[in-house]
Amino acid sequence: MYFPMEAKKVAVIGAGPAGLVATRELLREGHKVVVFEKSDKVGGTWAYDSRVETDLLGLDPERKIVHSSLYKSLRVNRPRHLMRFLDYAFSEIEGGDQRTFPGHEEVLRFLTTFAEKFGLLESIRFGYNVVRVEQMEGNANKWIVEWQASGCDPNMELFEAVVVSTGRYTEPKTASFPGMDKWPGLQMHSHNYRSPEQFKDMIVVVIGAGASAMDISKELSAVTKEVHLALKDPSVEFASRNNTWGHPMIKRAYEDGKVEFHDGCFIDAHAIIHCTGYKCHYPFLKTNGIVSVNDDSVGPLYKVVFPPSLAPRLAFIGLPNVALTFLTAELQSKWVAKVLSGKVHLPSTEEMKASAKKLYHMEIEYGNWLATQSGLPLLEKRWEHLLNCIWKCYMLYGVDFREKCDVDGGLKEVESSSLGREMAIIRSAFSFMLGTVCGVYIAQNYKVPDIKKLSNTGIFFAKHIEENYRKPNSKKDSDD
Ligand SMILES: Cc1cc2nc3c(=O)[nH]c(=O)nc-3n(C[C@H](O)[C@H](O)[C@H](O)COP(=O)(O)OP(=O)(O)OC[C@H]3O[C@@H](n4cnc5c(N)ncnc54)[C@H](O)[C@@H]3O)c2cc1C
Repeated sequence: MYFPMEAKKVAVIGAGPAGLVATRELLREGHKVVVFEKSDKVGGTWAYDSRVETDLLGLDPERKIVHSSLYKSLRVNRPRHLMRFLDYAFSEIEGGDQRTFPGHEEVLRFLTTFAEKFGLLESIRFGYNVVRVEQMEGNANKWIVEWQASGCDPNMELFEAVVVSTGRYTEPKTASFPGMDKWPGLQMHSHNYRSPEQFKDMIVVVIGAGASAMDISKELSAVTKEVHLALKDPSVEFASRNNTWGHPMIKRAYEDGKVEFHDGCFIDAHAIIHCTGYKCHYPFLKTNGIVSVNDDSVGPLYKVVFPPSLAPRLAFIGLPNVALTFLTAELQSKWVAKVLSGKVHLPSTEEMKASAKKLYHMEIEYGNWLATQSGLPLLEKRWEHLLNCIWKCYMLYGVDFREKCDVDGGLKEVESSSLGREMAIIRSAFSFMLGTVCGVYIAQNYKVPDIKKLSNTGIFFAKHIEENYRKPNSKKDSDD
């Protein structure tokens, strides 16, 4: 698909990591950029907000939305080495939280200095909530962006292209079980969990087995009487420890406060926290059904970025659920910026549609594909090694990976030993044969020394990660 070589007037929606890096790349390519950010700061998810929503489960569509889903104690779950842009890493900022897995404040500091250093703030209109993005009738090259700024009437402006980077971890997806509506205790989604104090001495059920469920249940176990993890995925077994027990999913909740699990266990619980992930949500997007948005996906999208029939005037940055979040958004942004300026061409609409249906490839492959589109070298091998090292830590140490994972040592180990080959075997085997059985099979057949210590969380992580990397935009959402 050919596109005239010229600068465009582009609207970027959202000033989180994806919107910021998209803005930088669009500006670098000579486009005129206006960023609409509904809050008063950059950082998106990383701008921690102590407020919670009026409906703690997030079911009421009229509730006042709080964007960030971070809890107060959150530390990143990828090492700082990986949460970087190509030419801007955490090492660029002095002082602060130097831990390998820093607290969320450090990520916000990183993003704020990034925005300042690259002069992005001038392009951002803070306090502008975008309420409509729609192609202009009779002119496919113009897009209407309508916004609401506090205390002002709605207003609109025309753009030649729109980049959507509004994030995907704000609209709660809840579990559902019989008796849920009438159960008298406290229910909330992890989106509204901030700190453990209010659960002191309680018996709490945490639903989910993703990163948030693991972090929150670990934190809660220090103050609550009991924590009961209800795991959606029956193939994941959780080894109970201290005051924390694992169960299969809730079978029924009763009006007298009892909760029954599918293993036949009954408990008198005070609270249920749904750590069950997020829905794709673009209430402002009007495309007459060309882009369909359901809870788990948005599409069709060519390479998880362009809706084929609207390319390249509409693009999504930051959708893939990957470990190299910032880098992937950067590579997508470079590609979009070059496509918009006409330097890089897209295939035909039909080819893009056909390709959008295919299953997705692995993260590094995707990153390398994006890099080649923009004429960049392939991703550095050490980042792939670091990813391998992190998978190993998740698998071996579960919730304790931040304390126990020696990233620098692991990197050296991976580079100097056969561990890299073993990890490759583990990872590819997990892609094809998922689950605990698979872990045992690999342990018995490949004799990887530590595999017997594989944590249950690790098994979940491995499955979850592989599934998401194979098809990041097709089905599963992260439980972050
Ligand atoms: C609990 C949790 C832990 C996580 N941990 C990690 C981690 O350790 N490492 C990692 O790499 N990633 C992590 N993530 C993923 C994280 O979301 C990404 O790192 C990153 O923030 C995604 O960037 P984004 O710009 O796509 O979206 P966001 O960060 O969500 O930013 C979107 C921006 O769009 C704005 N916006 C939304 N709607 C509108 C509108 N209608 N009009 C105007 N502005 C709008 C929002 O205000 C926000 O500023 C975590 C996510 C969660 C929820």
